[in-house]
Amino acid sequence: MDATATSLAAVSTQELTREAGLVDALRATVGPDQIQTDPDITSAYSRDMMPLAPAGTPLAVVFPADTAQVAAVVQACAAAGVPIVPRGAGSGLTGAANAVDGAVSVVMTRMNRILEIDEGNRLAVVQPGVVNLDFRTEVESRGLFYAPDPSSYDWCSIGGNLSTNAGGLCCVKYGVTTDAVLGLEVVLASGDVLRTGRRTVKGVAGYDLTKLIVGSEGTLGIITEATLALRPKPFAPCTMVAAFADTESAGAAVSAAIRAGLVPSLMEIMDATCIRAVEAYTGSSILGEGDTPAAIMIGQSDAGPGVARREMDQLEQACVGAGAVFNYVTEDLAEGRMLLQARRVVLTSLEVLGTWLTDDVAVPRTEMAKLIHACAEIAADVQLTIGVVGHAGDGNMHPTIVYDAADPDQVAAAADAFGRILDAGRALGGTVTGEHGIGRIKQDFLAREVGPVALQVHRAIKRALDPQDLFNPGSMFAR
Ligand SMILES: Cc1cc2nc3c(=O)[nH]c(=O)nc-3n(C[C@H](O)[C@H](O)[C@H](O)COP(=O)(O)OP(=O)(O)OC[C@H]3O[C@@H](n4cnc5c(N)ncnc54)[C@H](O)[C@@H]3O)c2cc1C
Repeated sequence: MDATATSLAAVSTQELTREAGLVDALRATVGPDQIQTDPDITSAYSRDMMPLAPAGTPLAVVFPADTAQVAAVVQACAAAGVPIVPRGAGSGLTGAANAVDGAVSVVMTRMNRILEIDEGNRLAVVQPGVVNLDFRTEVESRGLFYAPDPSSYDWCSIGGNLSTNAGGLCCVKYGVTTDAVLGLEVVLASGDVLRTGRRTVKGVAGYDLTKLIVGSEGTLGIITEATLALRPKPFAPCTMVAAFADTESAGAAVSAAIRAGLVPSLMEIMDATCIRAVEAYTGSSILGEGDTPAAIMIGQSDAGPGVARREMDQLEQACVGAGAVFNYVTEDLAEGRMLLQARRVVLTSLEVLGTWLTDDVAVPRTEMAKLIHACAEIAADVQLTIGVVGHAGDGNMHPTIVYDAADPDQVAAAADAFGRILDAGRALGGTVTGEHGIGRIKQDFLAREVGPVALQVHRAIKRALDPQDLFNPGSMFAR
């Protein structure tokens, strides 16, 4: 063995010893049943739901039980110089929770307790592993409401929602996750436990560190507790559905509704590709017999008896004025739920046609129809199916590309379409993500959107809080 080979062997032996030491320390911290190192098992935690993002093989996957364990895990990794990937339920759509080779994935699902529901102050304190729907159900049983409702709400975690600043169907009225957060507990790269925010309705003391952490995609620390604002439980919704022969009319209806001052609790749109996929999947027509419309809009109001009906009648008028070919308002809850279910099963229905890759782009609401058109042009150009579904009320569209994952040409075409949709959105004055985040799939798009100065500020914040680049290396932006 020559001198170089000998020193390389010494380095890799040192590394193995260091890794073994770290695994021993992690095992002692979380307990022998709460750590996995077998690649056959850890592979289940290596990816989220974005098929095109890179993913590595972690050194270990750990499942801490409390804040002290999280802090000890972070300190052990920092001492060993081993990166950390925080992870919730893995439902993300950007690869942000994907494993990095040799890193430790810290899965927060065991910390899933609702610690407090304070009805007098309309707030709750939760651990990050609580599933969104479980939390919503619990607060609803007390006449309260937690607004953020990503479509994945039956399995995504509150910690993941906070870290991606998740949106959902009712953002048009209630905003995104950050609008429901009062304060956080976060384990920093130093192992220190940061508490941000407050329990009061108002409060402006110091920098708004809560808003800095929300949406930081696991790059600044691990959220171990959240204080969340609750609302009174809304009234049962009144539902409106309208169909359009062209997407321009649907876009015009959205603009007319906004101009009329309507604030529905939900306003969703699906294009003809999605409508056909849903009808094929469910085996029934969404609106009865007839030609497939170019778009369907579903609106809801939860404003209460009388008011909700009035709001939906006004939305219906906006749709009719814009040229709707079908319109219907119902106060029947089962009927409303059935109509909304058609929207909820879009991705499942598209999945029947192939692998789906869902994009996330938000445009000014007046530009929505142009984006849908641009997607149709891109679909024709790359010769793949692209169905557009989205939150019409806030201009946040999810063009979903369907392709054959076993065909390298189709994979390349899907990736190309994914980027071109984002460029089209930006050209219309939009942003490259309305709710899913950047992760390991949109770093270049973020850099282009925010520009060099904002990128330097991102880097400065990252360096200040995580000088070793411990948390989620390679994700969100190049360091
Ligand atoms: C069918 C489907 C529908 C969806 N619909 C929506 C939708 O309507 N709106 C929407 O916004 N998203 C939607 N998503 C995307 C996804 O569900 C959200 O991004 C969700 O917030 C991710 O939560 P998670 O627990 O799965 O987090 P993960 O995917 O595990 O992680 C997401 C990010 O959060 C970080 N993270 C997780 N927990 C913590 C923590 N405790 N501390 C620090 N960082 C942490 C991870 O590092 C990663 O960066 C959908 C996904 C699917 C599959």
